[in-house]
Amino acid sequence: MLLDLSGQRLDRYHLLRLLGSGSFGQVYLAEDHSQTPPAQVALKLLTSFRLNAQDLQAFLNEARTSLRLRHPHIVPLLDLGLDPQRSLPFLVMAYAPGGSLRLRHPRGSRLPLSTVLTYVAQITSALQYAHDAGIIHRDLKPDNLLLDAHDRLLLSDFGIALLASSFATSLSSTTGVAGTPTYMAPEQFLGHPQRASDQYALAVIIYEWLCGEPPFRGTFVELAGQHLQAAPPPLRPRAPEVDPAVEQVLLHALAKQPDERFPSVTAFTAALLRAVGTSLSTTLDAHQQSLALLQQAEQSLVQGNRQQALAIYNEAIRLNPSSAVAYNNRGTLRPHFKQLQEALADFSEAIRLKPDLAAAYFNRGLLSSLLGHYEQAIADFNAALRLKPQWAGAYYYRALLQAQLGQLQQARSDYEQASHLDPEFAEAFYSSFFEQLLRQRTQALPQMLPWQLVGPE
Ligand code: ADP
Ligand code: MG
Repeated sequence: MLLDLSGQRLDRYHLLRLLGSGSFGQVYLAEDHSQTPPAQVALKLLTSFRLNAQDLQAFLNEARTSLRLRHPHIVPLLDLGLDPQRSLPFLVMAYAPGGSLRLRHPRGSRLPLSTVLTYVAQITSALQYAHDAGIIHRDLKPDNLLLDAHDRLLLSDFGIALLASSFATSLSSTTGVAGTPTYMAPEQFLGHPQRASDQYALAVIIYEWLCGEPPFRGTFVELAGQHLQAAPPPLRPRAPEVDPAVEQVLLHALAKQPDERFPSVTAFTAALLRAVGTSLSTTLDAHQQSLALLQQAEQSLVQGNRQQALAIYNEAIRLNPSSAVAYNNRGTLRPHFKQLQEALADFSEAIRLKPDLAAAYFNRGLLSSLLGHYEQAIADFNAALRLKPQWAGAYYYRALLQAQLGQLQQARSDYEQASHLDPEFAEAFYSSFFEQLLRQRTQALPQMLPWQLVGPE
């Protein structure tokens, strides 16, 4: 087993602390120092994949195709690399600050049906998306269900088990059958995972959430025997409140033969919801749907599709008209479509809905200064700085504005404050043209505007 590498650097990643260890390696909280300020990421060092140069190329190709899934409920893969010292590949993914559902609900927990359904709806949409793309998860378990800062569920480790099995022969330490036996479908023990194997694993997870215990326990061999041969113990003696119709649906998804289960994971969930007497769209409440849409819009922006992002924000606002973040973010897009007044209105609405949303003040301040509403602009930057006193960018733009208004003394003091708070950024980005601005009181502001608008953290 590898030691804790916290404090060391891998490539451009600074390892901060070990988040956990699993079947394939170690996961670190890390900082990506190519970004200012450094972005927090999760770095997974695959300690069981010691690779030579040839393997590495094959590994990277395989990883790129099988791991590049993009969905609001899948942890996005950000980068792949190799630790040259130890010849170990690593994956870099988004950091999920909420931890895993295994941590949130320790072994033995029993969850209310409503909580279970909220989780299941999110897992199902991610699984169906991956299955449609021809990718099987193969290692679905509560440890791989992570939570973001808004308690949105994120599936992690998509296809890692596949990587493990396809590289098993060339690995120094073979992993053998990949997966976690408590949740593994019978056919997976025989080396034939398929889409329905993920459905089976999901059913095991739901079973465990409802009654506090998975259907089978034991060593790997005992578990293999039970998954292949034994009927799952009835759920209701352990959890009498569970509706018999719900139990029937779970047993159907736990069928030994993959083709005796539901035809898709969506069909499974739909049956479960019918048994409960509700429907998928009401399970995910409007608030959650709108959160998922915000994430989707971010994805569109990453791909450079502003038109699509704008449409998604419209939809998010329709679903949840009290989402200040959706208004703010839509506002940041509007200048690209020359909708400056509409952008102002969006920021104002965001502020009305959430008077402590510093980003919305900042954005309205920037836009107001562009439109010549200087008093409003100063008031907005003041408000942003009252809410976030360490915000170098807000000092900087207030300084620009003051310079433009001829208030050179205040401008210089704000500029110094900005440089003090964020010396590197100030050095690289501001100083030369700030000095110019101070001299010329130029009109450079309009060009800088659209891409400087910010989202709320
Ligand atoms: P396993 O999934 O078998 O638990 P992993 O190596 O995938 O093993 O992860 C080890 C632990 O690290 C997880 O249980 C989880 O608590 C944590 N972890 C993994 N990925 C992330 C992430 N992207 N963000 C935050 N924590 C993570
Ligand atoms: Mg994992």
